Amino acid sequence: MITKKGLIIGVTELEDKGRYLRVLTDDGVHEVYARGAKKITSKNNAGTEIFCYSRLCATPGKNGLILDSSEPERQFYNLRFDIKKLALANYFAEVVMHSGIGTEKTGETLNLFLLCLYYLDAGNRETALIKAVFELRYACEIGFMPGLIGCDVCHKYDEGLTFVIKSGKLYCEEHLNGTGYPLSPAVLHALRFVCLSELKKICDFKLSPEAERDLARIAENYLIYHTEKHLKSLTYYNRLS
Ligand SMILES: [Zn+2]
Repeated sequence: MITKKGLIIGVTELEDKGRYLRVLTDDGVHEVYARGAKKITSKNNAGTEIFCYSRLCATPGKNGLILDSSEPERQFYNLRFDIKKLALANYFAEVVMHSGIGTEKTGETLNLFLLCLYYLDAGNRETALIKAVFELRYACEIGFMPGLIGCDVCHKYDEGLTFVIKSGKLYCEEHLNGTGYPLSPAVLHALRFVCLSELKKICDFKLSPEAERDLARIAENYLIYHTEKHLKSLTYYNRLS
């Protein structure tokens, strides 16, 4: 028997009243079959809902893990009342299911996901900002940490820098070869803050609407470029925005 805490990031309701779950834990994404969990009377009904963070006990079976028991640790109730937030959480889930958890630090992808759900649920941060934070920090977790100290050639670090998506590097006007995103001081600071701060702080900043749009554009394009994935859930989310 295996006992683990995990976030339910995918639920397929099955005809036999069971649920097929994709569970993000500190060591990866696991597939778990939960017999009868769709039934409202099942002891595992609440703990196997989408985006529930649960303590799960499971036994290895022929085709993956079979759930024995579950206990919800945290439910992000408000997500289900907001179609845009739910769409964003589904996008995060699809990103993780496609690109994994990376090897940078154990449990960091799970903690990042939980942090972003916490802020989406609490409603005290802009949804677009949470999205950008997730995309940038997740890219770092899976091995695409951008070089944000200064110009890659002369190390100029403050003004007139451009961020190049493909290389993940900064260049000053003199050393820029090609195109990129010119950064205002606020956006440069935000990029460094999100990629380099301690995880629990990374949503603790504010930007003007214009700077937020710039950061959002960079974050989305950076993750798409480096994961080479155009996900349906992102198209859907952007249609709602
Ligand atoms: Zn330079």
